[in-house]
Amino acid sequence: MVGEPQDDCLFCKIAAGQIPADVVRETETTVAFRDIHPQAPTHVLVIPKVHHPDAASLAAAEPGIAADLLREAGQVAGDEKLESYRIVFNTGSGAGQTVFHAHAHVLGGRGMQWPPG
Ligand code: 5GP
Ligand code: ZN
Repeated sequence: MVGEPQDDCLFCKIAAGQIPADVVRETETTVAFRDIHPQAPTHVLVIPKVHHPDAASLAAAEPGIAADLLREAGQVAGDEKLESYRIVFNTGSGAGQTVFHAHAHVLGGRGMQWPPG
């Protein structure tokens, strides 16, 4: 099912330009903007303009847009000149998801540990 905008969704509002964000890239299907609480020197969120609650739901419903999201995450990393970086999809509140509109975190510019916390 194609994702319809949700009235109460922060990232739907950012995608529609109703709430300002530091946008670094935009395509027909995606928007990339800097996280308001960066966890690394580069911390950019890439969202689909359509609303789906998480990345797997997006991929199941609209796989082409999920691919756009990943491609854009790589473009952000290239624009930011990141040699190494991490793409994170927190899924579910127990894993730290706080905004239930699919988004990729692109994190880089510092060393990172594995496993993550
Ligand atoms: P989650 O915790 O759902 O994986 O990621 C949500 C992210 O959105 C968090 O890293 C949080 O800092 C970021 N965030 C929350 N509200 C805003 C906002 O109004 N503007 C921006 N640019 N980022 C936000
Ligand atoms: Zn939304």
